[in-house]
Amino acid sequence: GQTIGIVGGGQLGRMMALAAREMGYRIAVLDPTPDSPCAQVADVEIVAAYNDLSAIQRLAEASDVVTYEFENIDYECLTWLEEHAYLPQGSRLLRVTQNRFTEKSAVAELGIPVAPYILVRDAEELERGLQQFGYPCVLKTTTGGYDGKGQVVLRADADIAQAEALLANECILEQWIPFTKEISVIVVRSVSGEVQTFPVAENIHVHNILHETIVPARVSADLERQAVECAMKLARELELVGTLAVEMFVTEHGIYVNELAPRPHNSGHYTMDACETSQFQQHIRAMCNWPLGRTTLHKPVVMVNILGEHIEGVLNHVHDFADCKLHLYGKQEAKHKRKMGHVNILAADTEQALEKARQLGIWDDEKLLEVVK
Ligand code: ATP
Ligand code: MG
Ligand code: MG
Repeated sequence: GQTIGIVGGGQLGRMMALAAREMGYRIAVLDPTPDSPCAQVADVEIVAAYNDLSAIQRLAEASDVVTYEFENIDYECLTWLEEHAYLPQGSRLLRVTQNRFTEKSAVAELGIPVAPYILVRDAEELERGLQQFGYPCVLKTTTGGYDGKGQVVLRADADIAQAEALLANECILEQWIPFTKEISVIVVRSVSGEVQTFPVAENIHVHNILHETIVPARVSADLERQAVECAMKLARELELVGTLAVEMFVTEHGIYVNELAPRPHNSGHYTMDACETSQFQQHIRAMCNWPLGRTTLHKPVVMVNILGEHIEGVLNHVHDFADCKLHLYGKQEAKHKRKMGHVNILAADTEQALEKARQLGIWDDEKLLEVVK
């Protein structure tokens, strides 16, 4: 059979690999850490730095098709992959989304609203940006940030010192968008140009980490349509091949795009149990040019992330519920804030799913209960 090579061995790589294996593919994975979540379910494991060109070459030699879950593949490795391996996704969209400035510019150029932003390289440019936008606003490193790492929210002059510490790296300053909800749409386009979107997801972040995804999103049918159209437009105009997750803010004045991820996404994990086709199977279908699967939602679902601090409590309760589908990533050390797995809670309606989430014991925190209301 054919082998799919995956750059990056985290949970996204693991879930891609599990889907691909069911479809008859072999898996090769490159990750710097031995026994990564993906390596545990792969046929070939290459342990090396992501930006080790010779390791990238070994991965390509072992593979018929190459894809990635790790977004920060460096310039040289990416160029080599595009020229010498079969990388159906190409490198263009990945390069654009590797940098928040080029990503936001690409979205804005299509006439899609984004938070007003400027490039900030030193204290003087920060000062200028603060005068332009006022408080609150957010300073983010242009590259490398995730789960809220590499960003500082500025609410008053007192926060400037903390923000300046980020300026060792190039940053963008963004105006604060007073959103009423956060949503996301995952769109997948196959090598032959077939496109499918997944149902709109409502996302609740706690301390900047995705806490839960609620589907169907509690938004109007009209807004849902706008969100899907926005994702379709991005897929078309950015010439997507593969999977693109579009994170959006919902405001009184419509939708703003927050950021893009050119890969399967945490907010799409609900598809594994609630949709006719999971985002991971869809990604593999797109890469290997199978017809895309239908994305119909079978049942309302709440996906709750299990972080290191939750794992004990969840494992004590999850077995009591038939409709709580557990997915663990095979990570050994349950570090604080580390994503260890997720649960998809299926129910007749969203309220019942949220109630089960509370019973699972991930809801002790009073603040979390408030966020949901
Ligand atoms: P991810 O883990 O999703 O990649 P990230 O670290 O790249 O996250 P962002 O998505 O840019 O970070 O921001 C994290 C969260 O912070 C957002 O989901 C949102 O809740 C809040 N946030 C970020 N930028 C803004 C903004 N301009 N206005 C309002 N809220 C914001
Ligand atoms: Mg991000
Ligand atoms: Mg984000």
